[in-house]
Amino acid sequence: AKEGGRGAYCFFKREMDETIRQRRTLSRELRQAILDEELVVHYQPLARASDGEVCGFEALCRWPHATRGMIPPVDFIPLAEDSGLIAPLGEFVLRRACADAMTWEKPLRIAVNLSPLQLNNPTLPSLVHEILIETGLSPSRLELEITESALFKDYQRALDNLRRLKALGVRVAMDDFGTGFSSLSTLQSFPFDKIKIDKSFVENINVHDRATVIVRAVLGLGRSLNIPVVAEGVETAEQMDFLRGEACDEIQGYAIGRPAPADTLSAWTNRAAV
Ligand code: C2E
Ligand code: CA
Ligand code: CA
Ligand code: CA
Repeated sequence: AKEGGRGAYCFFKREMDETIRQRRTLSRELRQAILDEELVVHYQPLARASDGEVCGFEALCRWPHATRGMIPPVDFIPLAEDSGLIAPLGEFVLRRACADAMTWEKPLRIAVNLSPLQLNNPTLPSLVHEILIETGLSPSRLELEITESALFKDYQRALDNLRRLKALGVRVAMDDFGTGFSSLSTLQSFPFDKIKIDKSFVENINVHDRATVIVRAVLGLGRSLNIPVVAEGVETAEQMDFLRGEACDEIQGYAIGRPAPADTLSAWTNRAAV
């Protein structure tokens, strides 16, 4: 049994070394991909719930990898956060998203996700300011999506940064609402302009009674606080009807459109021909 135990240990150790080696390789490749501006930003439409009119897009980044194909953000954002690459990655996405939004005929909003590490960087507001000046994007068109976890590392710093961003005229949205540990107290303490209900609730509308009641309650909360609410992950007509009926402000999800490359958006971004 002892021998078997050691054998198993050696086996796991080998597996672990292999995993660590793969992560190192991937992080080296990611660093190069960021330097070479090889990451791509896709855009997913957000629509007004009342009439289905597209009113903005969320920037979602992807990594086209030579051998692994298109790598989704869940597989490289955590890696970027652990290896000091999230700052250059985030800066790249922000700059690219603002520049792409400037090419749209309609002045639609552009939402960009911020990593917790970015929000805790004291230079974030000046970076955002610089990119707005450089691209010429009106601050009122930019919305930064922030998860609750971003606010706990250094509460004062995060609050200070949020205030400075808002002073620029940029909007801030609370992302993944309801999935954190204290969504309500976060909402009470931070000056968010928008609430995004996480898709884990939306996908259970009319499936689980509790999820349905929770979505309805969050919509009521937004209404009472005068904060617009967006539902993400809307896939079915049934979910859409429910959200419309409950006076949700905006919807995002495959029912409206999937994330797509910048050069495929013209049907939504062009002014209708007269
Ligand atoms: P998120 O901010 O919650 O973004 C929504 C995710 O749900 C996106 O996944 C989107 O493609 C997906 N989604 C949208 N509608 C539907 C739907 O109807 N059904 C389903 N099943 N999924 C839907 P994606 O693009 O894989 O991004 C995953 C996460 O990675 C994002 O979650 C965000 O937290 C992070 N992320 C993406 N791009 C960036 C970035 O540039 N910077 C940072 N810091 N994080 C990013
Ligand atoms: Ca988001
Ligand atoms: Ca989410
Ligand atoms: Ca998220």
